[in-house]
Amino acid sequence: MEREYPAYRAGFVDRVLGAAPGDARNWYRELRRLCREVIEPGAEHIDRSRGYPRTSIAALREIGAFGVVAPRQCGGLGYGDGVGALAVEEVSCACPSTGAILMFHSQVVRRLAMFGNTRRQREQLEQLALGQRMGASAWSETDAGADKRMMATQVVTDGSSWKVQGSKQFITGLEAAELVHVLLRAPGPAGELVPTFLSVEMDTAGLSIEEIYDLVGLRGSSTGSITLDGVAVEPTDVVGEVGWGNKLMSANHTCCIHPGMIALGIARSAYEKLAPWTRGDWPQVRQTTEYQNTRFTLAEIEVQLGSAYAYAAQAIEYAHRDPNGAGVDCVKVKLHASTTGLSVTSAAMRLAGARGFRRDCPFERHWRDSQATLLMGPTNEIVKERVAAQIAQTSSDSE
Ligand SMILES: Cc1cc2nc3c(=O)[nH]c(=O)nc-3n(C[C@H](O)[C@H](O)[C@H](O)COP(=O)(O)OP(=O)(O)OC[C@H]3O[C@@H](n4cnc5c(N)ncnc54)[C@H](O)[C@@H]3O)c2cc1C
Repeated sequence: MEREYPAYRAGFVDRVLGAAPGDARNWYRELRRLCREVIEPGAEHIDRSRGYPRTSIAALREIGAFGVVAPRQCGGLGYGDGVGALAVEEVSCACPSTGAILMFHSQVVRRLAMFGNTRRQREQLEQLALGQRMGASAWSETDAGADKRMMATQVVTDGSSWKVQGSKQFITGLEAAELVHVLLRAPGPAGELVPTFLSVEMDTAGLSIEEIYDLVGLRGSSTGSITLDGVAVEPTDVVGEVGWGNKLMSANHTCCIHPGMIALGIARSAYEKLAPWTRGDWPQVRQTTEYQNTRFTLAEIEVQLGSAYAYAAQAIEYAHRDPNGAGVDCVKVKLHASTTGLSVTSAAMRLAGARGFRRDCPFERHWRDSQATLLMGPTNEIVKERVAAQIAQTSSDSE
């Protein structure tokens, strides 16, 4: 029998689905079934083995999850960003590595839907929306992580051809990605190098995977680095226009599909296990609900999660009403949800006691996974800078 939505999250689900096309509700029910029956059972093995979640990805493909945000005329489900965010949260509750791959793929789909203006990019969009091919994004570099001003990857041109030279790191979904959106410097109209996104086929000569990282958390997310050594590209591979690199990054950051949704899924997964754990419903675990600290911690988590979901629902609603105006609200949710995720999983580790410190206890995986969401772009420090800038702007406007 299907689980009811817990009270702390029911409003979030209702508000997101209430604003979506009518058939999204049935689709979401199917997604939940699949998460419970196919994705969640494989999550622990994926974490331990660091393996790519092939079975989960194949199951998501079957229900069209890779095109959830793409318009219907482009092969997608056309459910919009809100349901895209809900899908990332739901999948991440079952397996956050799979949720991260879905999130980064959806960002590529969204970027092509908004800015892909060549016939080739329209074809790429349809293939990605149908899940026939997987997409990934490459903006981070060794000297250009959170701050992209020192970005070194660039287009080298002799006037007639374009070749990409550089390297990119921390690219999620790398192993199975067939298309990667690379942020680099490309020649502008006056020959100056300006931040630009290129849509590059992974099998282009000169592009190679350097490493798939042995991460602390999100271990099955297939996150790694590439080198681009004389990769031949065309000006028609530019997504949007030359010089729109910052604009496209900003479109990513003003979207309600972000690592905070992964964090909420992880926190929910930990909390769903924690209450039965404290009742002693797990093997070799004793009941601890007689302690006031246990009861109060559970109560605090319930309220923390409830407020985090309500905050997320509010930002999704703002983004739905005005996709260009919800920027700072969405990144505020990223900050709040990721710190809530870490707080909930840390509390779960403490309540679980020494038994919870064993690798065969589920909480340590949730705790490791939640750490990653603070580091994923935009990093929480960058978010705080943006929120502080907004506060300063508001204060100077009112003076
Ligand atoms: C699991 C995982 C998956 C990821 N997936 C992808 C992906 O698919 N594609 C991709 O391109 N990247 C990805 N990233 C990289 C992510 O976007 C970067 O971690 C992020 O951009 C930060 O870069 P950095 O870690 O190199 O930090 P650095 O830039 O080295 O920063 C170090 C510290 O300084 C802070 N800092 C840096 N600059 C500023 C500033 N101007 N103001 C205030 N604080 C600052 C940072 O917040 C951080 O705390 C992923 C990261 C992780 C952990």
